[in-house]
Order: sequence, then C-alpha cells, then structure tokens
Amino acid sequence: MHGKGLVGKSALVTGASSGIGQAIAIRLAQEGCNVAINYRKDGDEAGQTRAVALQKAAESGHSDVQVRLIQGDAANENDIIRVVNDVTGTFGGLDILVNNAGIQSEHPSHDIPADQFDRVIAVNLRGAYLYSRETIKHLLEKARPGVIINVSSVHEMIPRPLYLSYSISKAGMGSLTKTLALEYANRGIRVNAIAPGATVTPINEAWTGDQAKKVLVESYIPMGRAGTVNEMAAAVVFLASDEAAYITAKLCSLMVG
Ligand code: NAD
Repeated sequence: MHGKGLVGKSALVTGASSGIGQAIAIRLAQEGCNVAINYRKDGDEAGQTRAVALQKAAESGHSDVQVRLIQGDAANENDIIRVVNDVTGTFGGLDILVNNAGIQSEHPSHDIPADQFDRVIAVNLRGAYLYSRETIKHLLEKARPGVIINVSSVHEMIPRPLYLSYSISKAGMGSLTKTLALEYANRGIRVNAIAPGATVTPINEAWTGDQAKKVLVESYIPMGRAGTVNEMAAAVVFLASDEAAYITAKLCSLMVG
C-alpha cells in the first residue's frame, strides 16, 4: 500500500457550504478526490466553496478534479436518495461519505417543542443513517470498498444541558458508527467518526463573535483554544485515506470543549 489512496476517489460531503463541511470538501478536492458538495439552501456559499475547492485542487496538481453542487435536505428521504443517485451517476460511484450536516436547538429539557426535537434528530441522526444506507447499498451492489465518516461531537460522550436533542442525536450517531462498522467490516466498508470540541464555525456564532464569551468557552478547553475547521478536516482526510485502512468503529476525539 502506498500513499493516501485518495486520488480519483469520489466523495460526498453533506452540509458542505459552510464551517467544518466546507473545509472537508476543500481538503478532499485538494487531495485529488472528486467531491459532491451537498447544501440545503445556501447555493451562493456552496458555489464559493466549489470555486475554492477547484482552485486548491489545481494548486495541488489535481486540475482534473470535478466538484459538483447538489441541493438536498438531510431530513428528507427522497432528497437523500436523489443526492446519492446523482453522485454515483455523475462520478461513476461513491467511495467516501461524510455525514456532516447538523443543527442544534437550545431549550430547557422540560420545554422542547416536539417539532424542534424531531427536526434535530431528523437532520443529525436519521439523515446520517439514510445517507449511510443509500451509500452502503451502492457499495454492496458494486462490490466496492468504501468509507463513511460521521461528524459527531464531544457531546456524543459529554451531555450538554439545554441541548438535549443535539446530545441525543450525537450519542445515537456513536451507535450508528459502531454498529455499521461491525456489520460491514467484512465487506471492506469502514465507518468512523470525529468528535469535534468547540470549533470556530457559524453554528457557534453565539460565542465566537463575543470576546468575553470566547474566553470563557476556551477556558474549559485543555489546549486553551477552540479548534479550527482545517484541524477537523485533517482528521477526516486521514480517516478517509488508506493510512487508516485498518481503522474502523473509531471515534476520533478532537479536544474536549
Ligand atoms: P455549520 O452551521 O457551519 O454547518 C452545518 C451545515 O449543515 C450547514 O452548512 C448547514 O446549512 C447544513 N445543514 C443544516 N441543516 C441541513 C439539512 N437539513 N440538510 C442539509 N444540510 C443542512 O456548523 P459546523 O460547526 O460546521 O457544523 C458541522 C457539523 O459539525 C455538525 O454536524 C455539528 O454538529 C458538528 N460539530 C460542530 C462543532 C463546533 O463547535 N462547530 C462541534 C462538534 C460538532
């Protein structure tokens, strides 16, 4: 085995028009992967992500890389089936799925509106399952190996008061990762997850733009600072690569926040 084995592979990143997903999409293109950028509604941001990904890929000597934009709601089963079919049809297959799309919602646990609870679970957990299901079906049909990487959270392990639905969705993602990993290991499909701690992205606008709040958040982090999207993307690229060929069912923890 030589190198990362990523050149010419096809990847789909969900919720990739911003934050961690955007950085992952760009890094995968830079490594020579054809990348599908899924987005829900931010077509302009997704377009900008595509432009940067193509530029970075070309700078790394991969000017033949294709980067495709695909709209789709991670809470909608029909959208998910359409997105995966689109990727497999256009790229001739799908090798790497990154379940990154995610939302959170803050409420005291005795007062969460049922529709908001359902929405968080539908996007973060059910969506990740359905994307995995469609990808695994494709991989089995074509008898090809593949990799699934779930963007979980430190809140997979550490409960987050006021964010019950989010904590549950990420805890569920832990079981999703390990169950699929064990079930499909003998078919060459690896399933891993990363668990970012506090990372500077739009989901954290409540504190990233406020210096006093940022200092407080960072005071809880052993390294004394929030993570960057590129640090999260680096871990995903490693797990997607042949360097991680013997790693499955693993949660890669990226600092406690
Ligand atoms: P973000 O808000 O920039 O990214 C979330 C992305 O998901 C956005 O692009 C959004 O448009 C997309 N999305 C939301 N609902 C969607 C839907 N229904 N269908 C498709 N896409 C949808 O924030 P981020 O921090 O980059 O979050 C990315 C992932 O990282 C999430 O799963 C989040 O839970 C996880 N995470 C983030 C942190 C952090 O501190 N930033 C920490 C741990 C885990």
